Amino acid sequence: MSDLTTKLDDLHRRFSAALTAAEDERALEQARVDYLGRSGEVTQVRRAIGQLPPPERPAAGKTINAAVASMEAELEAAQSRLSQRAFDADLAQRIDVTFPAISPRTGAINPVRRITEDVASYFTRHGFAVVLGPEVEPDYYNFDALNIPADHPAREGFDSFWLTETLLLRPHTSPMQIRTMQQHRPPVAILAPGKCYRRDAVDARHLFQFHQIEGLLVAQDVHFGHLKGMLTGMCRALFGSGQNVRFRPSFFPFTEPSAEVDTTCPRCKGLASQCGMCGGSGWIELGGSGMVHPNVLREVGYDPDVYAGWAFGFGVERLGLIRYEIDDIRRYIDSDPDFLRQLA
Ligand SMILES: [Zn+2]
Repeated sequence: MSDLTTKLDDLHRRFSAALTAAEDERALEQARVDYLGRSGEVTQVRRAIGQLPPPERPAAGKTINAAVASMEAELEAAQSRLSQRAFDADLAQRIDVTFPAISPRTGAINPVRRITEDVASYFTRHGFAVVLGPEVEPDYYNFDALNIPADHPAREGFDSFWLTETLLLRPHTSPMQIRTMQQHRPPVAILAPGKCYRRDAVDARHLFQFHQIEGLLVAQDVHFGHLKGMLTGMCRALFGSGQNVRFRPSFFPFTEPSAEVDTTCPRCKGLASQCGMCGGSGWIELGGSGMVHPNVLREVGYDPDVYAGWAFGFGVERLGLIRYEIDDIRRYIDSDPDFLRQLA
């Protein structure tokens, strides 16, 4: 019996040593075959039980079984130790902690919003309130109240998306002039930014959905000089300190007199005769403006003999074309993150 124990202890010790020395799965498997396999050393010891006197056999069998269980547990531990080592080695190879991290792609504010906010910030500093209104408007707010009756040829200029006989997607932000003046007595000073819609084919200069920003001031003793001063300040805030504005006579039904507004070409400052941006004129067109037509004031119950007002409406995308020297208005809606990040 003690013979058997000694034999098993010796065998067990050599088995443990083989496991410790094993560098890979194959070496482990070899140890298993050598000791626990069909013709392994333990099996041979087990066969020798038959030569023992019968009374001793059960105890011998128990001793061998206990040794085998212990050896199998060791083998399992050795296997998991090896696979953990392989996993760690794999990790060490794949992850280079000194490698620069990939920085997350952060979004950027769309230039349309940025410009709207910059214009709004300039005017709110001067006491203007920002008002927002519906994008679907009755023709009354879009046209009639703005001195454009149903038979007026100017309606042709607004190629609109009509939803019903009388309801349309607003082609300009001017309905907010009427809505505001109907609700407030003068003085009124508002800025109305928002989306507008016209049935234009999309090309480098046109989108069927675009953004306008509209300004309106109505009070006593208001004149064109105020408008010029405010727009000059706005252009300096948006494009740089050297900017000036000029007015060119124009016609809009809702203003009288009316004027197109130009600002100094921000690229050449009016100094280059071969400027790609202004064509050498030194001026860039911003949009329309004028003194609010007396008919519009009358429509909302203001007395045009007491109050006067000025208004302007600019395309936000167009302001962006000037500010960022963008050559194609479609860039705004391409959702190209590189383009947007460039302007951030
Ligand atoms: Zn120029």
